[in-house]
Formats: sequence, C-alpha cells, structure tokens
Amino acid sequence: MQLISDSSALRRTLAILRFPAEQSIRRVALVPTMGNLHEGHLSLIKQAREHADIVIATVFVNPLQFGVGEDFDQYPRTLEADADKLAGAGCDILFAPAADELFPSTASNMTHVTAGAAGRGLCGAKRPGHFDGVVTIISLLFNLVQPDTAVFGEKDYQQLQVIRALVRDLHFPVEIIGAPIVRNHDGLALSSRNAYLSDTERATAPSLYRTLMCIRELLEQGLSHAQAIEEGIRQLDAQGFTADYLELRDRYTLAQATTDTRDAILLAAAYLGTTRLLDNVNVDLPASVEAS
Ligand code: AMP
Repeated sequence: MQLISDSSALRRTLAILRFPAEQSIRRVALVPTMGNLHEGHLSLIKQAREHADIVIATVFVNPLQFGVGEDFDQYPRTLEADADKLAGAGCDILFAPAADELFPSTASNMTHVTAGAAGRGLCGAKRPGHFDGVVTIISLLFNLVQPDTAVFGEKDYQQLQVIRALVRDLHFPVEIIGAPIVRNHDGLALSSRNAYLSDTERATAPSLYRTLMCIRELLEQGLSHAQAIEEGIRQLDAQGFTADYLELRDRYTLAQATTDTRDAILLAAAYLGTTRLLDNVNVDLPASVEAS
C-alpha cells in the first residue's frame, strides 16, 4: 500500500494506476474516513475491493463538518495504526493529507457546497452546517480522486442519503454504495466515538440498539408511530440516555413516515454523558396503522 499526503502526488499515482500499459481502464473505489479505523471501516474497504481494481481510502479529520464546541480537537488521530489496518485489509492507497494541503484557501474563505433537503432535520437540525461540511469535503475528494465508485456506511444513514443526493443533483459520475452497519457482539454499532465512553457508559451503550429493536417490533405489531416513538424515548431516558432524536422516516426519501409508508427506518441519536451515539434499524411497517 502506498501512503500519500500531497494531492499532486495522488493525481500522478492514480493516473498511472488507472491506465496501465495493457490499455484496459481500471476502476477506482474511494472510501472516505476520519481515521481511528475499526472493523466497520474495514468492511467498506472489502466492499470497495469487490467493486473496483484500485481501492483508495482517505483519512482526514474534516474541520468543516464539526460545529463550535464539538470534538474536533479531541477526535482520535491514529494514522500509523490505521495504515497497518488498511494494508491488512487490501487497500492500495491511503491518502492522508494535512488540512493546508487539501484546502488552498482557509476553511472560512473557501468555496462551500450546500447539502440538499436530505440534510435537513435529524442530524442536520441538531448539527447546523454539518452536512454542508460533509458534502464540501466529499465533492473535493471526488474531484481529486475521480473515483468510479465510493462506499459509505449505513451507520451514518442520513449522511449516505445526503451523498446520494449530492451525486444526483450535481451529476458526479460516481456510483454510491451503502454498506451495512458492523456491530460489536453486544449489538453496539462500532464507532470511533465509542472510545469516549466510560466503563459504565460502555455497559449501557448497547441498550440503544436493543431499544430500536424493541420499538421496531412494536411498530411491526401495529402500534401507532407516535406511541412507539414516545415509548422509545421513555426507554432511552430510563436507561440513562438523553435522546437527541428518535424518528421514523421513509427509508428512501427520509420524509416523515406516514400511514402509506411501508419501507421505513427508525433513526436515533442519543447522548450518553457527552458522547453522542448514532444508530438505526429498518422497519417494515404493516398496512393500516395510525401515524399519530
Ligand atoms: P467516519 O470515519 O466516522 O467518518 O466513518 C467513515 C465511514 O465509515 C462512513 O461512511 C461511516 O458511515 C462508515 N462507518 C463508520 N462506522 C461504521 C460501522 N459500524 N459500520 C459500517 N460503516 C461504518
């Protein structure tokens, strides 16, 4: 695996790899990350490998997607260990630039991309500007790498939908692949932020997924959407979480679920202490249930 930190070297390397001497064009897959890699990230590398000849991962803690008072400074930076894991997972190139390498202008002066409607509500409402920061960095990386395909995790489900909309709206010629959530054996979705949890919080954390599964069952048995959400928030509260949101949405459009919705998704963000955890489960809603 090659480790590259400057963008012109990246372009040169990709140009050589993409068009080998035998004149067949190779497919390139991109896996953007913020590092501190775990099995969830490595599952994206495996998916990328199935769809392309050249797999490139990026490790960059993107300042544009952190709000004031969020954990940008604290975010774990573990490049050496990340490089070892990526090499072991069969990644070809790790691009790990410094911020001044990636941003020719300062972050506040640079051109920004604005996320579309998929970025409103849910995390978009709780973290103003977050998805604009995400689509700006992803647009930049798409231009730099010009991948044929890019892989994102369903753990950040709204982000995945925001990126699908970015590609559709701005005509990026990139196929977006969503990868299923990788969980610990106790059900907790793997996340770099799990490292912030104290031992007691870590013991409580899997209850987020258990609560989502319980609410899914109630919904599939026909409980009204409003009553199910109320019950979910009550359970989270009783377990020591502070729910940021718990919402039932259409799985494809992220519109509020209605009585007509069948393919739904239950999305949660909840704090344990100062750590914000995200999770979601699909829900197959039965016909003829009250939305409220
Ligand atoms: P991050 O480094 O947190 O920005 O995540 C980089 C990519 O890995 C994103 O597409 C995430 O959705 C994905 N990801 C993070 N955790 C998981 C997980 N537990 N399962 C699957 N994908 C994940």
